[in-house]
Amino acid sequence: MSGFTDRADAALADPILKIAVERTAGTAEAKRTIAIDAFPDFEAARTRAAAIKDHVIAHLGYYLEEFEANAIVAGAKVHWASTADDACKIVIDICKTAGAKSVARSKSMLGEEIGLPHALAEAGIGRVETDLAEHIIQLADERPSHIIWPAMHKTREQVSALFKAKHRSPHQEETIAAMAESARRELRTQMLGADVGISGANFLIADSGAVCTVTNEGNAELSLVPPRVHIVTAGIEKIVPSMPHAIHMLRMLARSATGAALTQYTTFYTGPKRAGDRDGPEEMHIVLVDNGRTKMRDEGLAEMLRCIRCGACMNHCVVFRQIGGHAYGGTYPGPMGAVLTPVLDGLAANRDLIHACTLNGKCQEVCPVRIPLPTLLKGWREKSWREGLEPTSMRAGLGLWAWVATRPRLYRLGTGIAVRVMRLLGTKGWIAQLPLAGGWTRHRDMPRPAARTFMAQYQRERRL
Ligand code: SF4
Repeated sequence: MSGFTDRADAALADPILKIAVERTAGTAEAKRTIAIDAFPDFEAARTRAAAIKDHVIAHLGYYLEEFEANAIVAGAKVHWASTADDACKIVIDICKTAGAKSVARSKSMLGEEIGLPHALAEAGIGRVETDLAEHIIQLADERPSHIIWPAMHKTREQVSALFKAKHRSPHQEETIAAMAESARRELRTQMLGADVGISGANFLIADSGAVCTVTNEGNAELSLVPPRVHIVTAGIEKIVPSMPHAIHMLRMLARSATGAALTQYTTFYTGPKRAGDRDGPEEMHIVLVDNGRTKMRDEGLAEMLRCIRCGACMNHCVVFRQIGGHAYGGTYPGPMGAVLTPVLDGLAANRDLIHACTLNGKCQEVCPVRIPLPTLLKGWREKSWREGLEPTSMRAGLGLWAWVATRPRLYRLGTGIAVRVMRLLGTKGWIAQLPLAGGWTRHRDMPRPAARTFMAQYQRERRL
């Protein structure tokens, strides 16, 4: 399939996908609402979270150097990667030096962004995904469809069938508990036998050199502590100045992502195992990845670097809830993905993606760090227009509309005729097929317009 439109068409034709997405996104939306209502002055907390991120982004070099110095003091090795390829090469080299045959990976969207699963496979290094949803994705040989629930596009019935086909000792009972037990049997020995553990980072704490991960399953701790080597791959925007800042961001993250007050497991790793420690890796490597982030900061997308990857924008997005995450085509789906994907994969290849938004503003309303996603998307649209990426039909159509719209009499005449034609095409209040608007009516009916335009009704009221 060529682009977003084709993938969205296919997603809309999949009724199971709609059920799966709605189950999880609907639950997330409801839980977040309860959690936010119970939070004292969430609006002020959002403002503070945005200010923390803006401050760090404006002084990124300072805080990254502070983090590096403190991480080294704690015994970690810090590596810098400008691109996704650089980051993968650094990770593979560390794995090879460690003689690793298999790695245990804790869910990381940055890992997906830089193509780490693929790079590990190419290097002949086995990989076990320890997050339950990532385990499902790995078994199904698919990509994540959501940044918090990577297997959101699957129903539990589909997951049950997958486990029965792929697990060595699958569940017998059709219960969630039995399915989780089946995954535990499958994963536990692989996790404990891995030579290297690889994780992302939710936050990097500059004044201590600590790395924070949050999970709901404890899989990060179980897969990162036993191996001899722990590798962290983290985007440079994950930095926060100190622990109180991290705690504030954690409170925002958990509530926005799952509606919980705090994620089940929140762990801070500061260097490798020290003398006297009962367990922990002998080596800890932290790979700080740019991969376009500095460019974003310098080219008008700095606000996007506030993102703490909570997923609230996609859970509340009317488009995402119709088509799920895979249709977006990139690593990141939903509204934040529509802004980030052109950065990572180019604007020309994502011209139709940046238009797949109603600009209703719901994403901005729920974003815990106040990212103006609709404004950033409009910025991409303007850039696409300026660079001549919009098709000729669109340019001609908008040019014609602008010409008519600036001539009030002609505009009123045109809209009056259009309303009459549309009313002729509609029955029982809806229009099933509309010439030149097939993109709309292919998947849903259009409301039949009222007999008079708003302006006609307004003028009539004024005369009465
Ligand atoms: S853009 Fe905002 S709402 Fe969306 S994932 Fe990032 S922080 Fe969460």
